[in-house]
Amino acid sequence: MPKRKKVETIQVKEELHGDETIEVKNEIKENGNASGEKRKKRNVVKAVKEEVDEVKVRTKKTITEGISDELAHQRDTEGARVLAAASESKKMLGVHVSAAVSIERAIYNAVSMGCRSFAIFVRNQRRWDSAPMEEDVVVRWKKAIEEYPFPMDQIIPHGSYLMNSGSPDSGTLEKTRIAMLDECQRCERLGILAYNFHPGSTTGKCTVDECIQTIADTINYVIENTKFITLVVETMAAQGNSVGGKFEELRQIIDLVKDKSRVGVCLDTCHIFAAGYDIRTKETYEETMNEFERIVGFNYLKAVHLNDSKGDLGSKLDRHEHIGKGYLKTAFQWLMRDPRFDGIPMVLETPEGHYSQEMELLYNLEKNKENNM
Ligand SMILES: [Zn+2]
Ligand SMILES: [Zn+2]
Repeated sequence: MPKRKKVETIQVKEELHGDETIEVKNEIKENGNASGEKRKKRNVVKAVKEEVDEVKVRTKKTITEGISDELAHQRDTEGARVLAAASESKKMLGVHVSAAVSIERAIYNAVSMGCRSFAIFVRNQRRWDSAPMEEDVVVRWKKAIEEYPFPMDQIIPHGSYLMNSGSPDSGTLEKTRIAMLDECQRCERLGILAYNFHPGSTTGKCTVDECIQTIADTINYVIENTKFITLVVETMAAQGNSVGGKFEELRQIIDLVKDKSRVGVCLDTCHIFAAGYDIRTKETYEETMNEFERIVGFNYLKAVHLNDSKGDLGSKLDRHEHIGKGYLKTAFQWLMRDPRFDGIPMVLETPEGHYSQEMELLYNLEKNKENNM
């Protein structure tokens, strides 16, 4: 029962934009607790939603601008601690932050945690359709960027999870291409330079080579219809039928992209480990990175996802764990001290709750203060 309520609350939250969201959420919570019946709850959700939609129309222009007092306080306390730990570092650590309510809030969320980089979803990641991005959103985003000057190459949006850019199903492929192009065009309007996505899956209905060709065709299509954005393909855990678990597969995709200046790779520590690339000791780390250099090339490396792994080496499990709490434990010291990772966004996608502490821990690892994780 409580689980169901949560799902409904989230759905409503996602469908709304604006300050009213929070109020609705609370109202639903209260009403939900009182009724305890699925149908009743759904009706309540619906009624509240309709009411809010009306309010939304009336109060459209009342989205509060600027950082909230709460986030400003967080920025001056835990955010400041992270940046102090980062002072000598060339690593650009960050977090996949929420862009709920309005996309510029992502900037304030990132600032409050002491991020030097961040990732976001540029639209609802669980829906195929999305209302167009209005111009006032772009204006508020640019204002926030002026206030907190994030280098644009440190913002790396993540493509929505519904997409399969290598899908053998023509319907899914078409929807994916429309969605990906829309997301990339949104990025360009916001001035964002790169966009990261999971390459795709054969879904067991085509060969890996065919899937790779389709992925490359999708990338070419998006590049041809955008101006400058770089498409960044992620290393995968080789879970199920997903493509991108081998460095060779990423290389094959790159080889088929016409404009090589607009394609890149995002290395996810959890994914590569689950796919069978060990990075836990100095020797295995060097071996894996040399292989990456030989097959893909560090010149294509545009971003990193920093995740510990709940699954063991080669488990093919895409399950992220807090830094230092999973099987990867000892790997992060090597990564943090490797100058090949200087200056690019390195974004945490670990379970929520400890991002600032995790970034501090990582910066301290670099300084050799805590090398016995
Ligand atoms: Zn990732
Ligand atoms: Zn993952």
